[in-house]
Amino acid sequence: MLNLDMAPSAPGRPTVLVIDDQPLNIRAVHQALAQNYEVLMATSGPAGIDACRQHQPDLILLDLVMPGMSGIDVAQRLKDDSLTSAIPIIFVTASTDNEEESACWEAGAVDFVTKPFNPMTLRRRVQVHLALKLQAEMLQRMAYLDGLTEIPNRRYFNERFAAEAARARREGGSLILMLADVDFFKRYNDHYGHQAGDACLRQVASAFQRALRRPLDFTARYGGEEFAVLAPGGGAAAAHNLAAALRREVHALALPHAASSAAAIVTVSVGVVCVDAWRDQDVDSLLREADVQLYRAKERGRDRACIGGVEEGA
Ligand code: GH3
Ligand code: MG
Ligand code: MG
Repeated sequence: MLNLDMAPSAPGRPTVLVIDDQPLNIRAVHQALAQNYEVLMATSGPAGIDACRQHQPDLILLDLVMPGMSGIDVAQRLKDDSLTSAIPIIFVTASTDNEEESACWEAGAVDFVTKPFNPMTLRRRVQVHLALKLQAEMLQRMAYLDGLTEIPNRRYFNERFAAEAARARREGGSLILMLADVDFFKRYNDHYGHQAGDACLRQVASAFQRALRRPLDFTARYGGEEFAVLAPGGGAAAAHNLAAALRREVHALALPHAASSAAAIVTVSVGVVCVDAWRDQDVDSLLREADVQLYRAKERGRDRACIGGVEEGA
């Protein structure tokens, strides 16, 4: 699925990643495409997968035959990973074997170019698939963004959370989940007006985004004045730091809140759950647990985080 935080909607040229063990082939592709695209290169399957996760190219040109990990294996790995599954793959191969060609389609290729290729044909194919991809992405982006704050919405959060949970379960990975809620926000609306309330939510959303530094961490608007944060990897110390950073950035906004009983400025309470090694947890019970911690932070005076029973920043 689309990664909203890293999606290549940034202005600039689309990026094409070439994965091929032969430098000569890479050079030929580079010559055909470099004028119109940013061309990244990797000379092995594992290096290509790393580059994909890291750079999120718009399109991949993948060699079928490589020593070690074959193009088919690479494609399957990329399709299994929610971070890279939506990146179109065009196979580039000298093979004319029907079975191999079928295997490429089955591995999720969007197209097929045979070597030696006509540079014009390669350019046109790349152009068509990039246009399709960018169009699909624009629609998906609209469906996944919150209209008010322009950060990801709850639908996006739920899908990414499910995907990250599946990965953590598979790999026994760790994960930090947070639910944060603006303190005394009803009073904020009553005191400053609903429009000021909207502006406040936009600012809190951008403060949260500033607090997140790692590329896979993300925040979403979960409900009215409630935000969710997901940080794959982690541990208790990272969870503490992240919760502290969220609160610090919101404090730094210094938005006056004369009607709050927690502080003179807008603050948030945060409920944190920290999964060290994923075993039998399920997504819903983690959300419930985060909500319990959030409720405790509220009860204990707001403007603080509660982490699995331990308090931060009171
Ligand atoms: P607490 O500290 O316990 O969280 O109190 P609270 O007042 O923040 O919580 P409560 O749930 O009572 O009120 C939340 C308020 O958030 C009520 C609702 O009108 C407001 N709200 C929800 N969505 C929006 C929005 O999009 N814009 C504005 N301006 N207000 C919103
Ligand atoms: Mg609320
Ligand atoms: Mg609230």
